[in-house]
Amino acid sequence: LLQLFRPLDLLGMVYRMIRQGLIDMQAMFDLMDTPEEIADRANAKPLRVSDGLVEFDHVSFGYEADRQILNQLSFTVPAGQTLAIVGPSGAGKSTIARLLFRFYDPQQGSIKIDGQDIGKVTQHSLRSAIGIVPQDTVLFNDTIGYNIAYGRNGAGENEVVEAAKGAAIDGFIALLPQGYDTEVGERGLKLSGGEKQRVAIARTLLKNPPILILDEATSALDSRTEEAIQETLNNIAEKRTTIIIAHRLSTITHADSIIVLDAGQVAEQGSHEKLLAAGGLYAGLWRRQQAERDKEKAVV
Ligand code: ATP
Repeated sequence: LLQLFRPLDLLGMVYRMIRQGLIDMQAMFDLMDTPEEIADRANAKPLRVSDGLVEFDHVSFGYEADRQILNQLSFTVPAGQTLAIVGPSGAGKSTIARLLFRFYDPQQGSIKIDGQDIGKVTQHSLRSAIGIVPQDTVLFNDTIGYNIAYGRNGAGENEVVEAAKGAAIDGFIALLPQGYDTEVGERGLKLSGGEKQRVAIARTLLKNPPILILDEATSALDSRTEEAIQETLNNIAEKRTTIIIAHRLSTITHADSIIVLDAGQVAEQGSHEKLLAAGGLYAGLWRRQQAERDKEKAVV
């Protein structure tokens, strides 16, 4: 998480995290101790994003030498399109996001954005080009305005309000006692899961990245909130290259393409309709999730 932020922000961020007790000291040092292999190369150039084409080319990766997570994984996300990744827990979905953000380098293969190997560009330029809406948003013990403005250094008040509107949280903020100056976090106003997610969306809108990673929350929000958030996310994904790490298949039926990850490889790929018709892993997952949903509805 720390690496999401620019070096100048790092100390402030660490200070805030310690103050909030969000991470212990050991975890902090682990995070700050950037392994050698993910440092900028001596001749690293800034990434130039023209269209936002993302390619994984025979990528193999394991966190530990004796356990491979991704195995010669190849896929392409055409510029501006949405790719959803599904698969069993532990299949390596989040690992794909971590590699694209270059928290780690693959042991084999390469990852390219608009033809440039992400291992050869500056980390700062790479991370500026990618926005992440995470499963769980960390809120700082500060105002809600500050929490949104964190998306981009030096964002003005108007831009923060515009981002809040885009994330459909401006109406909620307008009703708070001190509006954008209302304190949130541990000692301030507690936000719901859906509200926190909207703060993350607003941050991402401010950042305005050409490439977006949406890490869908495993814990379901209530269905009305979920639908509303889904609509907001679909809007911000529209003009960007988007990778959705999905747990609920119902949220990704519109994706241009869906990958079913199994044993670190693409087991199936296609549109929702195509994968259903194929009657394979995806169709099985879909049937199970639909049956669970029907059961839940019957209980309610
Ligand atoms: P889920 O749907 O449960 O979120 P996932 O498909 O996103 O799962 P990953 O988080 O990519 O799975 O993890 C893939 C595998 O890598 C898992 O077996 C996990 O235990 C392992 N793993 C993840 N992070 C690390 C790490 N930092 N060190 C070692 N192993 C890890």
